[in-house]
Amino acid sequence: DRTPVSVIGLGMMGQALAGAFVRAGHPTTVWNRTAGKADQLVALGAREAGSVAEAVAAAPLTVVCVLDETAVGALVEPLEAVVRGRVLVNLTSGTSQGARELGERVERWGGRYLDGAIMAVPQAVGTDEAVLVYSGARDAFDRHAEELRGLGGSTYLGADHGLSSLFEAAVLSLMWNLLNGFLHGAALLGAAGVPATTFAPLARTAIGTVTGWLPDYARQVDERSYPPLDSTLDTHLAAMGNLVKESEALGVGGELPRFVQALAERAAASGRGGDGYAALVEQFREP
Ligand code: NDP
Repeated sequence: DRTPVSVIGLGMMGQALAGAFVRAGHPTTVWNRTAGKADQLVALGAREAGSVAEAVAAAPLTVVCVLDETAVGALVEPLEAVVRGRVLVNLTSGTSQGARELGERVERWGGRYLDGAIMAVPQAVGTDEAVLVYSGARDAFDRHAEELRGLGGSTYLGADHGLSSLFEAAVLSLMWNLLNGFLHGAALLGAAGVPATTFAPLARTAIGTVTGWLPDYARQVDERSYPPLDSTLDTHLAAMGNLVKESEALGVGGELPRFVQALAERAAASGRGGDGYAALVEQFREP
């Protein structure tokens, strides 16, 4: 007797979410704007609803995963009458402000709202490899812990609906900066004829090394005190100059290393040259 669930939006991610629910044995109702995307799920046992309201009315728990928060806003418009007493979980990427506004709206209508973020690719959904974070209505998270657990590892962040979007933004910032660093390094080596596949193993090791620094850096960021643990910002600054020179000499884009250098120069100019690298956080705190 598994809890019935509904899924709105059957893009790459919505299909994965609905598929995980179906496989876990939940009676699953699905809806998608464009017809035809439910066929595979229906073949697996899902039921296709004729409207969003019909899908929401079919289950105590509805998961929404569409392109963006503008699409979500339009989809929930006709739900005032059906959402009362039900839980809406929005896994669409959005902003913290958008999540707070939607949470306020759903709860004014008598529903419970959880905002969530998926830190995984669709292929990982339904396995422990997928990390999903949720924020908002704690009671709803607890009531549906088992259903949500079927989508992947689930973590409740707090009552503020905006928290999941903020965590998602922070993780994306990390991901893009990390990948840009790898790609810039690959372009640099590539200009000298070294294939990226040769760089990749060393890059993985370097990422692992940096990962090990995070607990100490995090503590320093929270304490706003940055005694150098390994080297000083001044030492980093000297090496940053080399990266700019190499990039320019090899005709590889220099914006990224110049930006990194400019941040550290500003920190040094404000008297932080003798501090550790974590002191750079002040350049983000006070842009
Ligand atoms: P897709 O482009 O595959 O699917 C988008 C879905 O949104 C489709 O079902 C589409 O419907 C629907 N949609 C778009 N606009 C509207 C609208 N105005 N009204 C109703 N439905 C609409 O994207 P994904 O499934 O990959 O991504 C969905 C969300 O999940 C995004 O917010 C994304 O950031 C997030 N996400 C995705 C990850 C991934 O790896 N794919 C990872 C983590 C988060 P239609 O079929 O009618 O076009």
